[in-house]
Amino acid sequence: MYLKTLLTAVLLGIATVAAQSGGAAHQASATASATASAGEKVSTPAPKPVSRPKSFDLGAMDKTVDPCEDFYQYSCGAWRRDNPIPPDQARWGRFNELAEYNRQLLHEILEKASANDPKRDPLTQKVGDFYTSCMDEKTVNSLGSTPLKPLLERIAAISNKDQLVETMAYMHSLDMNVLFGFGAQPDLHNASMHIAAVRQGGLGLPDRDYYIKDDPKSQETREKYQAHVANMLKLLGDDDSAAQKETQAIMRIETKLAQAAYDRVAMRDPKNHDHKLAVTELLTLAPNFEFTRFFASSGAPSFTDVNVVPPDFFKQVNGILDSVSIDDWKAYLKWHAIHSAAPTLSEPFVQENFSFYEKYLSGQKEPRARWKRCVLLTDQLLGEALGQSYVAQTFGADGKKRMLKMVDALEQALGADIQDLSWMTADTRKQAQIKLKAISNKIGYPDKWRDYSTVKIARGDLLGNVWQARAFEMRRNWNKIGQPLDKTEWGMTPPTVNAYYSSSENDINFPAGILQPPFFDQTQDDAVNFGGIGVVIGHELTHGFDDQGSKFDGNGNLSNWWTEADRKEFDQRTGCIADEYSSFTPLPELHLNGRLTLGENTADNGGMRIALMALRKALAAEKGSSASQKKDGFTPEQRFFLGFAQVWCENRTDESARLAAKTDPHSPGRYRVIGTVQNNPDFAKAFACKPNQKMVSQNACRVW
Ligand SMILES: [Zn+2]
Repeated sequence: MYLKTLLTAVLLGIATVAAQSGGAAHQASATASATASAGEKVSTPAPKPVSRPKSFDLGAMDKTVDPCEDFYQYSCGAWRRDNPIPPDQARWGRFNELAEYNRQLLHEILEKASANDPKRDPLTQKVGDFYTSCMDEKTVNSLGSTPLKPLLERIAAISNKDQLVETMAYMHSLDMNVLFGFGAQPDLHNASMHIAAVRQGGLGLPDRDYYIKDDPKSQETREKYQAHVANMLKLLGDDDSAAQKETQAIMRIETKLAQAAYDRVAMRDPKNHDHKLAVTELLTLAPNFEFTRFFASSGAPSFTDVNVVPPDFFKQVNGILDSVSIDDWKAYLKWHAIHSAAPTLSEPFVQENFSFYEKYLSGQKEPRARWKRCVLLTDQLLGEALGQSYVAQTFGADGKKRMLKMVDALEQALGADIQDLSWMTADTRKQAQIKLKAISNKIGYPDKWRDYSTVKIARGDLLGNVWQARAFEMRRNWNKIGQPLDKTEWGMTPPTVNAYYSSSENDINFPAGILQPPFFDQTQDDAVNFGGIGVVIGHELTHGFDDQGSKFDGNGNLSNWWTEADRKEFDQRTGCIADEYSSFTPLPELHLNGRLTLGENTADNGGMRIALMALRKALAAEKGSSASQKKDGFTPEQRFFLGFAQVWCENRTDESARLAAKTDPHSPGRYRVIGTVQNNPDFAKAFACKPNQKMVSQNACRVW
């Protein structure tokens, strides 16, 4: 969804790898096994049960390794050996284990909801029939690409620029972000209000660099991509020569969009997101595109100001608009229509989509079982309807209470940390404390659920249902333009195994899905929970003070509360972290990009430090109790570091590692652990490491 692509939400964990445009659905791609006739309840063979992940796990460790030489191998070695990547995944770690466990609960809920019972309440009917339409593979296969036909016919009938722009607006209303992105966002200088924004976009590959770079891998990726585009067009009935010709046109257009786009590192800088213009100025900036017609036909409310992200993109794209023929634009729109719909169409489309995006780009060997894809799609598109049953079954008041206590402990620790920082002067320190005090939190699920009453869901019409749900979300987003920010709204669904900080809302958010082992375990001691969810809380809080968050104030506005000297010191310290992580090589010759991952790495380092401070305070309060004693042969602080590291046990395919190095702002698990502990003298103390050992950095970096 649009929200996730905004600068202002920073996630904890596993970014979904999707194409830069229209990406949400392709995860749901692929084959399946169940059969049934249209409208009937489809039952699946019971999947192999997934047991609840363990938290602190002695069996995951490799004790043959010295913790001071390789703490990741020490903490996760046996887990990594015993948990090869399942064929239907591109990476496999503790996050995925928990996500699979949650998916199983959602599956049970959806199987029950799918019974064609007239007594079902409206929400159960919606999620149940949505899921049924997705599981109904026989109908989906018998329809081929027919559900997409009305849109394809509309594209084919375009004969002038006006129709072109109107069709683009219609496609945007179905969350197909052709040419650029368009949606509401908080005003960067008045975060309590939403404004309209247009953003660079319109690509089918996951990063602009693939179109531009000349290294052999990028060239190969372009060739495979073009073959994929052509295959899709042929599946729609084109002959080979027409498909090749259209593919060339599509590549020419997307390459120009990629050349006009800023790279991911530049897009981390809030100043490249800060260009509010009068709509009339946008019209002057890009006169060859009829924005007035586009906005009016989109169905969005009218507005006078628009944030242009970034203006250079639109200026450059303006230059190509008239040089591209109507026929070439039609080929481009047709490709994006089929790209967006492919996962919900018949088997050949699903397979072709899988073989490029999952298999070639991510190294996933097999498509996921259909039920998994259907559960995921229901969560993505009707998440707050499905999520209501999920939280009713899984999330209790006790969990929320203990979580609130931990958030409070972490906030106090960050306050103490800021107070003691040697490098910060009094003026900036005071402002940092003001920002910290203004941070609010959301735990578990929304107080007020999204109202899906206008979404019509019918059995036997998967693509129709997907479009209903997407159109609903786009309308909901566009209707925010000119409206106040609703801080009760969530950017993640309740079963999500992740967390985020929003700089516009200045809040930290923890969906119910992550408040379970291995992150949070009611049966475990504080040491383990502070190492797990405690570091997660600390991580999200620290995002408020990373290279992006530090440029926003406590009210969520982009405003400089730093003295010049303190900012210089901050930049030097974040530079240390950027260089450290750039030196890490997940594959031979493949370096992490320390500038792309800077915010996450800063948050990991700060999060761990303040979680340990909070743990020490909690242990001191329980002095003399068993909490301070060794357990399983480890001191509480050792258990804290082990609990932290074990959250990040994972395996990933080489392809997935390569893709992530280019696109993922998070470092891989191994470096999230090593990078953080080697900077932390308390780790060296806890495990009695000597100064010349690998987990003790000679040039330890510290920001917070
Ligand atoms: Zn994060």
